[in-house]
Amino acid sequence: MIKDIKGLHHVTSMAADASENNAFFTNVLGLRRVKKTVNFDAPEVYHLYYGDEIGTPGSVMTYFPFGQMPSGRRGTGEVGITEFAVPTGALTYWQDRLTAAGVAGLEKSEAFGEARLSFDGPDGDSFALVESDARGRTPWTGGDVPEEYGILGFRGARFRLNDAAATGELLNFMGYQKADTSGDLTRYVIEGGNAADTIDIEAIPSAKSATQGAGSVHHIAFAVEDRARQLEVRKALLDTGYQVTPVIDRDYFWAIYFRTPGGILFEVATNEPGFDRDEDTAHLGQALKLPTRYEPYRNQIEGLLPAIGN
Ligand code: ZN
Repeated sequence: MIKDIKGLHHVTSMAADASENNAFFTNVLGLRRVKKTVNFDAPEVYHLYYGDEIGTPGSVMTYFPFGQMPSGRRGTGEVGITEFAVPTGALTYWQDRLTAAGVAGLEKSEAFGEARLSFDGPDGDSFALVESDARGRTPWTGGDVPEEYGILGFRGARFRLNDAAATGELLNFMGYQKADTSGDLTRYVIEGGNAADTIDIEAIPSAKSATQGAGSVHHIAFAVEDRARQLEVRKALLDTGYQVTPVIDRDYFWAIYFRTPGGILFEVATNEPGFDRDEDTAHLGQALKLPTRYEPYRNQIEGLLPAIGN
């Protein structure tokens, strides 16, 4: 069994409009944009990263805003809900704030003893704010969300699957322990994790598969401390029969990817080197950062990317 995974590192989704995406995550949710770069495989598309002050692993929501793109359809074989943690007692504030911002899909509920507020993102993305202990995490306070209500990073994610068993076994292998069940939900938790450490599997045997598009999660990334541990995780997955990519340099972390039995694309990403490797903490996310191989084309790339505001 793998012992080096600490919870989530980041979640990457697809969007249509870049400017609308940026405004939602910074102005409405009060996250900090910690990096403005491009999709390394399609440099005419942004890769925008939102998180806490420094983009701590376990806090980072990232987007590829493709411009004109049809919306995805929710279903099975995908990350159904991306869940952020907020301090206990914060949901009333958020319900008022999101209502005032015209956010769709607002609904309060409870799961595993935690109060939740579900809501939709600009492209119909499914999110929830979950009241949770801070566990040493602090929100970004550079926006107008008061510190006592601010988003603390991810709580976890809910997978929607036709068959829960194989993905549950994989999570066990990755170090998650089955913690609780409630209806068709099974909760998995990492002991001693980074607080972004729950995965809930919702088993819906007869539901249709999701189709990917704007508002869909593209992949979900799990955190390991460093490159040595990542190589150990890669070997363990290969030895178990998973087809894992080589290690890929993403400038702010190192990444490996593999497809899971339920259809979700998993990544394992390193906590090193982090988002301050090419700009100082005070100015994170302001300038357009390009990987070295695209620097010679900066003028053309800047000409293709839409303006998104601060
Ligand atoms: Zn990723």
